[in-house]
Amino acid sequence: MYISQSFIPILKNNPSEAKIKSHQLMLRVGMIKQSSAGIYSWLPLGFKVMKKIEQIVREEQNKIGAQEILMPTIQSSEIWKESGRYEDYGEEMLRIKDRQDREMLYGPTNEELVTDIFRASIKSYKSLPQLLYHIQWKFRDEIRPRFGIMRCREFYMKDAYSFDISDEEALFSYNKFFLSYLKTFKRLDLTAIPMAADTGPIGGNLSHEFIILAETGESKIYTDKRIFDLKSEGTKLEKKSLENLRKKYEEFYSVTDEKFNKDEFEKKVLETNRLKTKGIEVGHIFYFGDKYSKPMEASVDLPGGKKNFVKMGSYGVGVSRLVGAIIEAKYDEKNEVMKWPISVAPYDVGIIPMINKNDNSALEKANKINFELKKDNIDVIIDDTDENFSSKIKKMNLIGAPYQIIIGKKTDSDLIEFKEVGKETQKLKIIEIIKIIQEQKEKN
Ligand code: ATP
Ligand code: MG
Repeated sequence: MYISQSFIPILKNNPSEAKIKSHQLMLRVGMIKQSSAGIYSWLPLGFKVMKKIEQIVREEQNKIGAQEILMPTIQSSEIWKESGRYEDYGEEMLRIKDRQDREMLYGPTNEELVTDIFRASIKSYKSLPQLLYHIQWKFRDEIRPRFGIMRCREFYMKDAYSFDISDEEALFSYNKFFLSYLKTFKRLDLTAIPMAADTGPIGGNLSHEFIILAETGESKIYTDKRIFDLKSEGTKLEKKSLENLRKKYEEFYSVTDEKFNKDEFEKKVLETNRLKTKGIEVGHIFYFGDKYSKPMEASVDLPGGKKNFVKMGSYGVGVSRLVGAIIEAKYDEKNEVMKWPISVAPYDVGIIPMINKNDNSALEKANKINFELKKDNIDVIIDDTDENFSSKIKKMNLIGAPYQIIIGKKTDSDLIEFKEVGKETQKLKIIEIIKIIQEQKEKN
């Protein structure tokens, strides 16, 4: 892709309305455009990143046996009246009327709708467990939308729902998602810590928020630092192994402010291990038993002929918020350098040829390199504009391809000036460059 032909509307300066770095960068480099308060269009660069995140989230859901569906954004109020949440949910719910005067709403979450789908078809314990998920836009009429897509009104979320026959089986499902979340965030090159959380309007009795550390985060967190050293490698998709994994995490004090208790914190965590900071919630999982299945009468036949309400959990990941969260974690604001993790980078390599008015040889060399990289599925953006070198570097640093190639005036050598952003420039042959990038990609 040539920059001259791309739709990447870069601003010269930081937009003054943006208070945190993810919002600044996303506007600066044209990833999003606000269309009204808390509602955004996604432009090519931002959309590419979000779609890559979505795909990683999807793959990790599939790995634990969850099945993808797609529920609509618009829901009928009927099912919400059945569960009792139509009144309870309050002003965050966008309520609309259709031409027949029927009360509809733009879904803020999908417990009711998925329970309705489930009860229409599943009648026997033999069909359990069922793990269903979808990736769909949500609308919450947040009282104070801010920080760009971090807290907006229309946002993209993966939400999954589990249906089980008993508490024990339901915890097994819960733990599968617990593991899949750790793996998902790791592939995004983020360290997300599971923290005991309140269950809020979703209700229930077991819940974890997955939080990444960031000064600009809205959640206050209190943890034992040692939790950052835990690993999920080697965990098997089986009851005992998963239970042990969750226990391992739960051994360390780690809570958000709703659950914070000063005495407990000081008693359980040595002073040198105490960490009190802020973070961004990127995922949230809940176990809530029959909170919805009971009022909505979603039951299955048990072996002995009796019936039981299914035990449910729900599991959300903020797919669009993650775009901002990755920027918060990776953007060097002072030097204005972004480096996307290769797993979600909008481009793998940015090529910067130095172009003179009457000499196209650097651009020709860029085209040749692009041709070779493309064969190996390496995605390239070439700055083919005739701006000066330093402004081209600045621009490329904002776009955030993790690798850069610089082509100077002398273009006859086999060796290419190549660098991983943030590291020293090296002179390498094209096959060596391909090898480095492929190795990085394979790690994900
Ligand atoms: P928060 O405490 O941030 O309002 P929540 O507890 O209301 O989050 P959930 O209902 O658990 O969020 O939704 C699942 C995920 O969706 C959250 O972990 C978050 O990543 C994302 N999310 C929630 N609200 C928003 C929003 N207004 N804008 C962007 N992403 C959001
Ligand atoms: Mg909320």
